[in-house]
Amino acid sequence: VSSLLLRGGTLLTLDERATVLESSDVYIEDGRISRIGAVGAAPPGATVVDLGGDWVLPGLIQGHIHLGQTIFRGLAEGRRLLPWLRERIWPLEAAHDDESAYWSTLLGAAECLAGGTTTIQDIGIGPGARGLLEGIRDSGLRALAGPCLMDTGDGLPDRLRSPTEEALAVAEELGDAFDGAEGGRLRFVLNPRFILTCSDPLWAGIRELAERRGWPVHTHALEQEEEAEAVRELKGRDEIQYFDEVGILAGDLRIAHGVWLTAGHLERLRRSRFSVVHCPSSNLKLGSGLADVVGIRRAGIPVGVATDGAACSNSLDVLSEIRLAALLQQLRNGPGSLSGLEALRMATSEGARALGLGAEVGSIEPGKRADLLVLRGDALGLFGGPESDPHDRVVYSATRSAVRHVLVDGRLLVEEGRLTGIDREEVLRRSAGSLARLLERSRLSL
Ligand SMILES: [Zn+2]
Repeated sequence: VSSLLLRGGTLLTLDERATVLESSDVYIEDGRISRIGAVGAAPPGATVVDLGGDWVLPGLIQGHIHLGQTIFRGLAEGRRLLPWLRERIWPLEAAHDDESAYWSTLLGAAECLAGGTTTIQDIGIGPGARGLLEGIRDSGLRALAGPCLMDTGDGLPDRLRSPTEEALAVAEELGDAFDGAEGGRLRFVLNPRFILTCSDPLWAGIRELAERRGWPVHTHALEQEEEAEAVRELKGRDEIQYFDEVGILAGDLRIAHGVWLTAGHLERLRRSRFSVVHCPSSNLKLGSGLADVVGIRRAGIPVGVATDGAACSNSLDVLSEIRLAALLQQLRNGPGSLSGLEALRMATSEGARALGLGAEVGSIEPGKRADLLVLRGDALGLFGGPESDPHDRVVYSATRSAVRHVLVDGRLLVEEGRLTGIDREEVLRRSAGSLARLLERSRLSL
Protein backbone atom coordinates (compact mmCIF):
# COMPACT_ATOMS: atom_id res chain seq x y z
CA VAL A 1 0.00 0.00 0.00
CA SER A 2 1.54 3.29 -1.06
CA SER A 3 0.84 6.06 1.41
CA LEU A 4 1.56 9.74 1.65
CA LEU A 5 1.14 12.17 4.52
CA LEU A 6 0.69 15.87 3.82
CA ARG A 7 1.49 17.46 7.16
CA GLY A 8 0.53 20.80 8.66
CA GLY A 9 -1.62 22.68 6.18
CA THR A 10 -4.76 24.78 6.16
CA LEU A 11 -7.42 22.63 4.51
CA LEU A 12 -10.16 24.28 2.49
CA THR A 13 -12.19 21.09 2.30
CA LEU A 14 -15.09 22.40 0.16
CA ASP A 15 -17.24 19.77 1.87
CA GLU A 16 -20.94 20.50 2.29
CA ARG A 17 -20.32 22.94 5.13
CA ALA A 18 -17.17 24.38 3.54
CA THR A 19 -15.18 23.32 6.60
CA VAL A 20 -11.77 24.95 6.96
CA LEU A 21 -9.27 23.05 9.11
CA GLU A 22 -6.17 24.83 10.40
CA SER A 23 -2.88 23.00 11.08
CA SER A 24 -4.18 19.77 9.68
CA ASP A 25 -2.87 16.74 7.86
CA VAL A 26 -4.12 14.70 4.94
CA TYR A 27 -3.28 11.02 4.95
CA ILE A 28 -3.50 9.27 1.59
CA GLU A 29 -3.57 5.53 1.03
CA ASP A 30 -3.76 3.88 -2.38
CA GLY A 31 -4.70 7.09 -4.11
CA ARG A 32 -7.56 7.97 -1.78
CA ILE A 33 -7.88 10.29 1.18
CA SER A 34 -8.08 8.05 4.24
CA ARG A 35 -7.91 10.53 7.12
CA ILE A 36 -7.83 14.29 7.63
CA GLY A 37 -7.19 16.43 10.69
CA ALA A 38 -4.54 15.57 13.29
CA VAL A 39 -3.18 12.30 11.94
CA GLY A 40 -0.29 12.20 14.45
CA ALA A 41 3.00 10.47 13.75
CA ALA A 42 3.52 9.32 10.17
CA PRO A 43 2.57 5.66 9.76
CA PRO A 44 5.58 3.46 8.93
CA GLY A 45 6.52 3.55 5.28
CA ALA A 46 4.55 6.69 4.50
CA THR A 47 6.16 9.43 2.45
CA VAL A 48 5.84 12.72 4.33
CA VAL A 49 5.46 16.12 2.71
CA ASP A 50 5.70 19.01 5.14
CA LEU A 51 3.40 21.84 4.22
CA GLY A 52 4.49 24.43 6.77
CA GLY A 53 1.17 26.26 6.70
CA ASP A 54 0.43 25.90 3.00
CA TRP A 55 -3.17 25.79 1.84
CA VAL A 56 -4.65 22.52 0.59
CA LEU A 57 -7.63 22.58 -1.75
CA PRO A 58 -9.38 19.94 -3.82
CA GLY A 59 -7.71 19.77 -7.23
CA LEU A 60 -9.43 22.13 -9.66
CA ILE A 61 -11.86 20.85 -12.28
CA GLN A 62 -12.25 22.23 -15.79
CA GLY A 63 -15.49 21.01 -17.30
CA HIS A 64 -14.89 22.09 -20.90
CA ILE A 65 -11.57 22.14 -22.69
CA HIS A 66 -10.01 21.40 -26.09
CA LEU A 67 -6.46 20.20 -25.46
CA GLY A 68 -6.22 19.36 -29.17
CA GLN A 69 -6.34 23.10 -29.88
CA THR A 70 -3.48 24.08 -27.59
CA ILE A 71 -0.96 24.41 -30.41
CA PHE A 72 -3.40 26.69 -32.29
CA ARG A 73 -3.05 29.44 -29.70
CA GLY A 74 -3.00 32.85 -31.37
CA LEU A 75 -3.91 31.50 -34.84
CA ALA A 76 -7.60 32.45 -34.83
CA GLU A 77 -7.75 35.94 -33.41
CA GLY A 78 -10.38 38.61 -33.87
CA ARG A 79 -13.34 36.51 -35.00
CA ARG A 80 -16.82 35.65 -33.78
CA LEU A 81 -17.74 32.00 -33.33
CA LEU A 82 -18.83 30.83 -36.79
CA PRO A 83 -16.03 32.52 -38.82
CA TRP A 84 -13.60 31.50 -36.05
CA LEU A 85 -14.59 27.88 -36.71
CA ARG A 86 -14.92 28.02 -40.50
CA GLU A 87 -11.89 30.14 -41.38
CA ARG A 88 -9.43 28.84 -38.84
CA ILE A 89 -10.31 26.13 -36.33
CA TRP A 90 -11.87 23.57 -38.66
CA PRO A 91 -9.13 23.79 -41.31
CA LEU A 92 -6.54 23.47 -38.52
CA GLU A 93 -8.31 20.56 -36.82
CA ALA A 94 -8.73 18.85 -40.20
CA ALA A 95 -4.93 18.79 -40.54
CA HIS A 96 -4.35 17.05 -37.19
CA ASP A 97 -2.76 13.62 -37.07
CA ASP A 98 -2.13 11.47 -34.01
CA GLU A 99 1.31 12.97 -33.46
CA SER A 100 0.27 16.64 -33.57
CA ALA A 101 -2.75 15.83 -31.41
CA TYR A 102 -0.59 14.02 -28.86
CA TRP A 103 1.86 16.91 -28.38
CA SER A 104 -0.86 19.55 -28.39
CA THR A 105 -2.59 17.57 -25.66
CA LEU A 106 0.49 17.13 -23.51
CA LEU A 107 1.34 20.82 -23.90
CA GLY A 108 -2.14 21.78 -22.71
CA ALA A 109 -2.14 19.17 -19.96
CA ALA A 110 1.17 20.51 -18.68
CA GLU A 111 -0.27 24.01 -18.47
CA CYS A 112 -3.41 22.69 -16.76
CA LEU A 113 -1.46 20.74 -14.15
CA ALA A 114 1.01 23.55 -13.47
CA GLY A 115 -1.96 25.82 -12.78
CA GLY A 116 -3.69 23.44 -10.35
CA THR A 117 -6.15 21.67 -12.66
CA THR A 118 -6.52 17.96 -11.86
CA THR A 119 -9.67 17.00 -13.81
CA ILE A 120 -10.76 17.97 -17.31
CA GLN A 121 -13.67 17.20 -19.59
CA ASP A 122 -12.27 17.41 -23.14
CA ILE A 123 -14.58 17.75 -26.14
CA GLY A 124 -12.03 16.13 -28.42
CA ILE A 125 -11.09 16.37 -32.08
CA GLY A 126 -11.86 14.38 -35.22
CA PRO A 127 -8.62 13.30 -36.95
CA GLY A 128 -5.99 12.66 -34.27
CA ALA A 129 -8.49 11.60 -31.61
CA ARG A 130 -6.36 8.58 -30.72
CA GLY A 131 -3.34 10.81 -30.18
CA LEU A 132 -5.43 13.08 -27.98
CA LEU A 133 -6.62 10.21 -25.79
CA GLU A 134 -3.08 8.85 -25.47
CA GLY A 135 -1.79 12.30 -24.51
CA ILE A 136 -4.46 12.60 -21.82
CA ARG A 137 -3.60 9.14 -20.51
CA ASP A 138 0.13 9.93 -20.36
CA SER A 139 -0.39 13.33 -18.72
CA GLY A 140 -1.74 11.88 -15.47
CA LEU A 141 -4.80 14.16 -15.49
CA ARG A 142 -8.16 12.78 -14.49
CA ALA A 143 -10.33 13.13 -17.55
CA LEU A 144 -13.58 12.61 -19.31
CA ALA A 145 -12.80 12.63 -23.00
CA GLY A 146 -13.74 11.24 -26.40
CA PRO A 147 -13.55 12.11 -30.09
CA CYS A 148 -15.45 15.14 -31.38
CA LEU A 149 -18.38 13.88 -33.47
CA MET A 150 -19.41 15.64 -36.69
CA ASP A 151 -21.07 14.40 -39.88
CA THR A 152 -22.47 17.50 -41.59
CA GLY A 153 -22.37 21.29 -41.56
CA ASP A 154 -21.97 24.46 -43.54
CA GLY A 155 -18.26 25.10 -44.17
CA LEU A 156 -17.13 21.86 -42.52
CA PRO A 157 -14.02 20.42 -44.26
CA ASP A 158 -14.42 16.92 -45.72
CA ARG A 159 -11.87 15.44 -43.32
CA LEU A 160 -14.05 16.45 -40.37
CA ARG A 161 -17.21 15.05 -41.93
CA SER A 162 -17.38 11.38 -40.92
CA PRO A 163 -20.07 9.12 -42.32
CA THR A 164 -22.63 8.87 -39.52
CA GLU A 165 -22.35 5.15 -38.82
CA GLU A 166 -18.56 5.29 -38.97
CA ALA A 167 -18.44 8.19 -36.47
CA LEU A 168 -20.55 6.16 -34.04
CA ALA A 169 -18.58 2.95 -34.54
CA VAL A 170 -15.22 4.69 -34.03
CA ALA A 171 -16.56 6.41 -30.93
CA GLU A 172 -17.70 3.14 -29.41
CA GLU A 173 -14.39 1.47 -30.18
CA LEU A 174 -12.40 4.31 -28.61
CA GLY A 175 -14.78 4.30 -25.66
CA ASP A 176 -14.22 0.59 -25.06
CA ALA A 177 -10.49 1.14 -24.71
CA PHE A 178 -10.60 4.41 -22.78
CA ASP A 179 -13.53 4.19 -20.38
CA GLY A 180 -12.44 3.14 -16.90
CA ALA A 181 -8.76 2.80 -17.83
CA GLU A 182 -5.91 3.73 -15.47
CA GLY A 183 -7.81 2.60 -12.38
CA GLY A 184 -10.86 4.64 -13.31
CA ARG A 185 -8.92 7.86 -13.87
CA LEU A 186 -10.17 7.98 -17.47
CA ARG A 187 -13.84 8.06 -18.45
CA PHE A 188 -15.41 8.24 -21.85
CA VAL A 189 -17.83 10.96 -22.93
CA LEU A 190 -19.79 11.35 -26.17
CA ASN A 191 -18.91 14.71 -27.73
CA PRO A 192 -21.16 15.85 -30.57
CA ARG A 193 -19.61 19.23 -31.46
CA PHE A 194 -22.87 21.17 -31.67
CA ILE A 195 -26.23 21.00 -33.41
CA LEU A 196 -24.95 22.64 -36.61
CA THR A 197 -22.40 19.87 -37.34
CA CYS A 198 -24.45 16.82 -36.34
CA SER A 199 -27.29 15.37 -38.42
CA ASP A 200 -30.54 14.10 -36.92
CA PRO A 201 -29.40 10.46 -37.44
CA LEU A 202 -26.13 11.22 -35.64
CA TRP A 203 -27.99 12.63 -32.63
CA ALA A 204 -30.27 9.57 -32.68
CA GLY A 205 -27.21 7.29 -32.75
CA ILE A 206 -25.58 9.22 -29.91
CA ARG A 207 -28.73 8.90 -27.82
CA GLU A 208 -28.80 5.18 -28.47
CA LEU A 209 -25.11 4.79 -27.58
CA ALA A 210 -25.51 6.94 -24.45
CA GLU A 211 -28.42 4.79 -23.26
CA ARG A 212 -26.83 1.47 -24.11
CA ARG A 213 -23.37 2.22 -22.71
CA GLY A 214 -24.27 4.66 -19.93
CA TRP A 215 -22.00 7.35 -21.37
CA PRO A 216 -22.76 11.02 -20.79
CA VAL A 217 -23.13 13.57 -23.60
CA HIS A 218 -21.10 16.79 -23.71
CA THR A 219 -21.66 19.46 -26.36
CA HIS A 220 -21.62 23.19 -27.08
CA ALA A 221 -24.94 25.03 -26.90
CA LEU A 222 -26.37 28.52 -26.79
CA GLU A 223 -22.93 30.05 -27.05
CA GLN A 224 -23.54 32.86 -29.52
CA GLU A 225 -26.62 34.53 -31.03
CA GLU A 226 -25.74 33.69 -34.67
CA GLU A 227 -25.36 30.02 -33.77
CA ALA A 228 -28.69 29.97 -31.89
CA GLU A 229 -30.33 31.72 -34.87
CA ALA A 230 -28.76 29.25 -37.36
CA VAL A 231 -30.14 26.34 -35.32
CA ARG A 232 -33.63 27.89 -35.33
CA GLU A 233 -33.41 28.29 -39.11
CA LEU A 234 -32.08 24.78 -39.73
CA LYS A 235 -34.24 22.85 -37.26
CA GLY A 236 -37.25 25.10 -36.82
CA ARG A 237 -36.85 25.03 -33.04
CA ASP A 238 -34.40 26.24 -30.43
CA GLU A 239 -31.49 24.23 -29.05
CA ILE A 240 -33.09 23.05 -25.83
CA GLN A 241 -36.30 22.08 -27.68
CA TYR A 242 -34.15 20.19 -30.17
CA PHE A 243 -32.29 18.28 -27.44
CA ASP A 244 -35.63 17.45 -25.86
CA GLU A 245 -37.14 16.17 -29.11
CA VAL A 246 -34.15 14.01 -30.10
CA GLY A 247 -34.19 12.45 -26.64
CA ILE A 248 -30.81 13.81 -25.55
CA LEU A 249 -32.32 15.79 -22.69
CA ALA A 250 -33.68 12.62 -21.12
CA GLY A 251 -30.10 11.45 -20.46
CA ASP A 252 -27.04 13.03 -18.84
CA LEU A 253 -26.27 16.19 -20.84
CA ARG A 254 -23.53 18.73 -20.14
CA ILE A 255 -23.38 21.86 -22.25
CA ALA A 256 -20.54 24.33 -22.54
CA HIS A 257 -21.46 28.05 -22.50
CA GLY A 258 -25.26 28.38 -22.14
CA VAL A 259 -24.85 32.14 -22.56
CA TRP A 260 -28.28 32.43 -24.20
CA LEU A 261 -30.29 30.17 -21.87
CA THR A 262 -33.65 31.83 -21.13
CA ALA A 263 -35.91 31.69 -18.08
CA GLY A 264 -38.16 29.38 -20.10
CA HIS A 265 -35.25 27.02 -20.75
CA LEU A 266 -34.31 26.96 -17.07
CA GLU A 267 -37.87 26.07 -16.11
CA ARG A 268 -37.81 23.17 -18.58
CA LEU A 269 -34.35 21.98 -17.49
CA ARG A 270 -35.12 21.79 -13.77
CA ARG A 271 -36.09 18.15 -13.97
CA SER A 272 -33.23 17.02 -16.21
CA ARG A 273 -29.80 15.61 -15.53
CA PHE A 274 -28.30 18.69 -17.04
CA SER A 275 -25.34 20.88 -16.29
CA VAL A 276 -23.65 23.96 -17.71
CA VAL A 277 -19.94 24.70 -17.93
CA HIS A 278 -19.24 28.42 -17.85
CA CYS A 279 -16.30 29.66 -19.96
CA PRO A 280 -16.14 33.41 -19.33
CA SER A 281 -12.86 34.34 -21.05
CA SER A 282 -13.83 32.43 -24.20
CA ASN A 283 -17.24 34.14 -24.11
CA LEU A 284 -15.58 37.54 -23.81
CA LYS A 285 -12.93 37.00 -26.46
CA LEU A 286 -15.31 35.67 -29.15
CA GLY A 287 -17.83 38.38 -28.24
CA SER A 288 -20.43 35.78 -27.21
CA GLY A 289 -21.93 37.40 -24.14
CA LEU A 290 -22.11 36.83 -20.40
CA ALA A 291 -23.90 33.79 -18.97
CA ASP A 292 -26.22 34.37 -16.02
CA VAL A 293 -24.45 31.98 -13.69
CA VAL A 294 -26.44 33.16 -10.69
CA GLY A 295 -29.74 32.54 -12.47
CA ILE A 296 -28.68 29.12 -13.77
CA ARG A 297 -27.54 28.03 -10.31
CA ARG A 298 -30.75 29.35 -8.76
CA ALA A 299 -32.67 26.98 -11.06
CA GLY A 300 -30.82 24.11 -9.36
CA ILE A 301 -28.55 23.38 -12.31
CA PRO A 302 -24.93 22.57 -11.41
CA VAL A 303 -22.46 24.94 -13.04
CA GLY A 304 -18.81 24.16 -13.72
CA VAL A 305 -16.15 26.51 -15.01
CA ALA A 306 -13.37 26.18 -17.56
CA THR A 307 -10.99 28.06 -19.77
CA ASP A 308 -12.24 26.38 -22.99
CA GLY A 309 -9.40 25.85 -25.52
CA ALA A 310 -6.23 27.86 -25.97
CA ALA A 311 -7.35 28.81 -29.50
CA CYS A 312 -10.19 30.97 -28.13
CA SER A 313 -9.33 32.06 -24.59
CA ASN A 314 -5.54 31.77 -25.12
CA SER A 315 -4.90 30.62 -21.54
CA LEU A 316 -5.56 27.40 -19.63
CA ASP A 317 -5.07 29.13 -16.27
CA VAL A 318 -8.03 27.99 -14.19
CA LEU A 319 -7.38 30.26 -11.19
CA SER A 320 -7.63 33.35 -13.37
CA GLU A 321 -10.78 31.90 -14.96
CA ILE A 322 -12.44 31.46 -11.56
CA ARG A 323 -11.53 35.03 -10.66
CA LEU A 324 -13.00 36.31 -13.92
CA ALA A 325 -16.16 34.25 -13.45
CA ALA A 326 -16.64 35.70 -9.96
CA LEU A 327 -15.94 39.28 -11.04
CA LEU A 328 -18.33 39.17 -13.99
CA GLN A 329 -21.24 37.98 -11.85
CA GLN A 330 -20.70 40.92 -9.49
CA LEU A 331 -21.17 43.14 -12.53
CA ARG A 332 -24.11 41.24 -13.96
CA ASN A 333 -26.04 40.45 -10.78
CA GLY A 334 -24.59 42.82 -8.19
CA PRO A 335 -21.85 42.57 -5.55
CA GLY A 336 -22.38 39.55 -3.32
CA SER A 337 -24.64 37.75 -5.81
CA LEU A 338 -22.01 35.01 -6.20
CA SER A 339 -19.72 34.56 -3.19
CA GLY A 340 -16.07 33.57 -3.36
CA LEU A 341 -17.05 30.21 -1.92
CA GLU A 342 -19.71 29.69 -4.61
CA ALA A 343 -17.25 30.65 -7.34
CA LEU A 344 -14.69 28.21 -5.97
CA ARG A 345 -17.31 25.46 -5.79
CA MET A 346 -17.77 25.74 -9.57
CA ALA A 347 -14.21 24.48 -9.95
CA THR A 348 -14.43 21.93 -7.10
CA SER A 349 -17.50 20.32 -5.50
CA GLU A 350 -20.12 21.70 -7.90
CA GLY A 351 -17.83 21.32 -10.91
CA ALA A 352 -17.47 17.66 -9.95
CA ARG A 353 -21.24 17.25 -9.74
CA ALA A 354 -21.62 18.90 -13.15
CA LEU A 355 -19.44 16.10 -14.57
CA GLY A 356 -21.06 13.28 -12.59
CA LEU A 357 -17.93 12.90 -10.44
CA GLY A 358 -19.33 14.28 -7.20
CA ALA A 359 -18.82 11.04 -5.27
CA GLU A 360 -15.17 10.77 -6.32
CA VAL A 361 -13.58 14.24 -6.35
CA GLY A 362 -14.29 17.91 -5.64
CA SER A 363 -13.79 18.01 -1.87
CA ILE A 364 -11.29 16.90 0.75
CA GLU A 365 -13.09 14.13 2.57
CA PRO A 366 -12.09 10.61 3.58
CA GLY A 367 -12.92 8.13 0.84
CA LYS A 368 -12.50 10.55 -2.02
CA ARG A 369 -9.72 10.38 -4.58
CA ALA A 370 -6.60 12.23 -3.48
CA ASP A 371 -6.74 14.92 -6.16
CA LEU A 372 -5.31 17.91 -4.37
CA LEU A 373 -3.85 21.36 -4.93
CA VAL A 374 -1.33 22.86 -2.49
CA LEU A 375 -0.91 26.64 -2.62
CA ARG A 376 2.02 28.37 -0.92
CA GLY A 377 0.73 29.78 2.35
CA ASP A 378 3.31 32.57 2.13
CA ALA A 379 2.17 33.79 -1.31
CA LEU A 380 1.93 37.57 -0.96
CA GLY A 381 -1.57 37.74 -2.41
CA LEU A 382 -2.97 35.20 0.04
CA PHE A 383 -2.24 37.29 3.12
CA GLY A 384 -5.31 38.29 5.05
CA GLY A 385 -6.53 38.67 8.62
CA PRO A 386 -8.40 35.84 10.33
CA GLU A 387 -11.66 37.76 9.73
CA SER A 388 -11.32 37.44 5.96
CA ASP A 389 -12.79 34.41 4.22
CA PRO A 390 -10.09 32.10 2.82
CA HIS A 391 -12.30 31.15 -0.16
CA ASP A 392 -12.50 34.82 -1.14
CA ARG A 393 -8.73 35.05 -0.82
CA VAL A 394 -8.20 32.10 -3.17
CA VAL A 395 -10.77 33.25 -5.74
CA TYR A 396 -9.79 36.89 -5.92
CA SER A 397 -6.07 36.78 -5.12
CA ALA A 398 -4.44 33.42 -5.79
CA THR A 399 -2.48 33.10 -9.02
CA ARG A 400 -0.80 30.08 -10.55
CA SER A 401 2.54 31.29 -9.28
CA ALA A 402 1.31 30.17 -5.83
CA VAL A 403 0.92 26.54 -6.97
CA ARG A 404 3.36 24.37 -5.03
CA HIS A 405 2.13 20.77 -5.36
CA VAL A 406 -0.55 19.07 -7.44
CA LEU A 407 -1.68 15.50 -6.85
CA VAL A 408 -3.94 13.19 -8.84
CA ASP A 409 -4.83 9.84 -7.28
CA GLY A 410 -2.25 10.66 -4.60
CA ARG A 411 0.55 10.98 -7.15
CA LEU A 412 2.59 14.19 -7.07
CA LEU A 413 2.37 15.42 -10.67
CA VAL A 414 3.64 18.87 -9.72
CA GLU A 415 6.19 19.07 -6.94
CA GLU A 416 7.62 22.39 -5.75
CA GLY A 417 6.05 24.01 -8.81
CA ARG A 418 7.71 21.63 -11.29
CA LEU A 419 6.08 18.99 -13.46
CA THR A 420 7.27 15.54 -12.43
CA GLY A 421 5.87 13.37 -15.23
CA ILE A 422 6.02 15.65 -18.27
CA ASP A 423 9.28 16.84 -19.79
CA ARG A 424 8.59 20.53 -20.32
CA GLU A 425 11.41 21.15 -22.81
CA GLU A 426 10.52 18.11 -24.87
CA VAL A 427 6.84 19.04 -25.01
CA LEU A 428 7.64 22.56 -26.20
CA ARG A 429 10.07 21.30 -28.83
CA ARG A 430 7.81 18.53 -30.15
CA SER A 431 4.79 20.84 -30.17
CA ALA A 432 6.65 23.35 -32.34
CA GLY A 433 7.69 20.64 -34.82
CA SER A 434 4.19 19.18 -34.93
CA LEU A 435 2.62 22.59 -35.49
CA ALA A 436 4.96 23.42 -38.39
CA ARG A 437 4.09 20.15 -40.15
CA LEU A 438 0.39 20.59 -39.42
CA LEU A 439 0.35 24.10 -40.91
CA GLU A 440 1.97 22.76 -44.05
CA ARG A 441 -0.66 20.02 -44.33
CA SER A 442 -3.46 22.54 -43.72
CA ARG A 443 -2.39 24.78 -46.64
CA LEU A 444 -3.95 27.60 -44.69
CA SER A 445 -2.56 31.05 -45.45
CA LEU A 446 -2.35 32.72 -42.09
ZN1 LIG B 1 -15.45 24.62 -26.68
